[in-house]
Amino acid sequence: PARTRFAPSPTGFIHLGSLRTALYNYLLAKSTGGQFLLRLEDTDRKRLVPGAEENIYESLKWTGLNWDEGPVVGGPYGPYKQSERSGIYAKYVEQLLDSGDAYRCFCSRERLDSLSSSARKLHPPSMASYDRKCSHLSREESDDKAHNGNPFTIRLKSPSVYPEFDDILHGTLSLQTQVNYSDIRYDDPVLVKSDGLPTYHFANVIDDYLMKITHVIRGEEWLASTPKHMALYTALGWKAPKFIHIPLLTSLSDKKLSKRSGDRGILSMGDSGILPEALVNFVALFGWSPPRESVGVTISELFTLQDLVEKFNLDGLTKGNAKVDDKKLMFFNSHYFRERLADKTKLNSIVQECHSMQMELVKNQQADLDTSVLSEEYTAKVLEAFGTKNLTSVQDFVNRSSYFYIQPWQSDTAVKALKELQADTYAKDISAEFLRLLDQENLPDSWAESICKEITSSNKWTKKQIFSVLRYTLAGGVSGVTIPKIMTILGPNVTKLRATEALS
Ligand code: GLU
Repeated sequence: PARTRFAPSPTGFIHLGSLRTALYNYLLAKSTGGQFLLRLEDTDRKRLVPGAEENIYESLKWTGLNWDEGPVVGGPYGPYKQSERSGIYAKYVEQLLDSGDAYRCFCSRERLDSLSSSARKLHPPSMASYDRKCSHLSREESDDKAHNGNPFTIRLKSPSVYPEFDDILHGTLSLQTQVNYSDIRYDDPVLVKSDGLPTYHFANVIDDYLMKITHVIRGEEWLASTPKHMALYTALGWKAPKFIHIPLLTSLSDKKLSKRSGDRGILSMGDSGILPEALVNFVALFGWSPPRESVGVTISELFTLQDLVEKFNLDGLTKGNAKVDDKKLMFFNSHYFRERLADKTKLNSIVQECHSMQMELVKNQQADLDTSVLSEEYTAKVLEAFGTKNLTSVQDFVNRSSYFYIQPWQSDTAVKALKELQADTYAKDISAEFLRLLDQENLPDSWAESICKEITSSNKWTKKQIFSVLRYTLAGGVSGVTIPKIMTILGPNVTKLRATEALS
């Protein structure tokens, strides 16, 4: 069984890339009967973003990636927020100072800045800008300086040769193979900053070890950090977990994802009608494909979280960059949206979402409906009128159903289209006849169907003429629901009101 973790820093909201990292870690744990941990890497206090921590919890819950151990739920290896683990890290700082694998650095910011600017001028630019001045201090000198209140950082003494490491996806790697310089030496990485808090590298290694993590799945952007982590594991005498660095997400044209094309917070995608099942299915395929059960059979790409747990396997991971195709997301979304519409147990949540989103938009607009009908039951009727095959998302519903809530001729273009239609005398005649039929006393139960039947059976106009006039009159020309259904939902009064206003 694998113990995996998702270790986000609360420096931003969960987006497609981080959701995929969380998902793969979740799937590896669940598919092997192991545990999935959540750990908050919040030691870089300057970069914390307000609301990011809550966003992490909400995003994971919304997509169903419930963590077995972590903040909120607790667990045997807590606390799971690094900012609360300072005492734990202090012990390992001592150990590394004692073994000589780490040392205190008292150099001032100015000195370090001038060292790094001269290092940048070298050809090739050196990755080591720190000259190790403080590594030559004796332990006594170092202790004295520290006791006298001189600010310091803790640095790892980099090995002259960095250890190799295995990546399940990339094979055996080392700093030497990753970078093309033969005499490479990394800076002695800072493990503890002058504020006493650990850096990402240090806390990450200590915690992965203490939390008994067996597999680390993370983005390729961390590959460059892994040699440092390996050096730390070696210095501490610990066995490292297995690493799997997954490819970057790019746009279809191979560009880095921009804010607009997918690097959005997933909760905000949810606000615009994307369903969590669709998102999970979508990101699962960024760098993973299901095992081919039988050659020649088209393999469906539709997977629920449960399907993924059953099918997930590290062998299905791929190395190439994963391209984000928004069209595919919309395909998944309409699939799951329709599935929810057809599923009685899920319908309710869709109705609620559609309703509240529609109310948001309708709030300040001119309505010709009695506001008392603007209830969830009303929205349920409207949704039912669309049927289960006609809509792709909540957003789609909102866009195509507003005339059930407000006057359909809100925009200049709709009014213009209506007026143009009415310039034809036949349109006026149709509207007049429609009104006459509506004006009868004691409309029967199936008044909408019978009026439509009557007006089409007069044979004075073609069906196409009649229904396009009525569609403009009642729905601003928007398609999706049949005219009798629209009339039934609006009711005779609003139908009459719209027909009268359209004529004037
Ligand atoms: N805190 C890092 C991040 O924000 C974790 C990287 C890792 O998984 O090691 O992504």
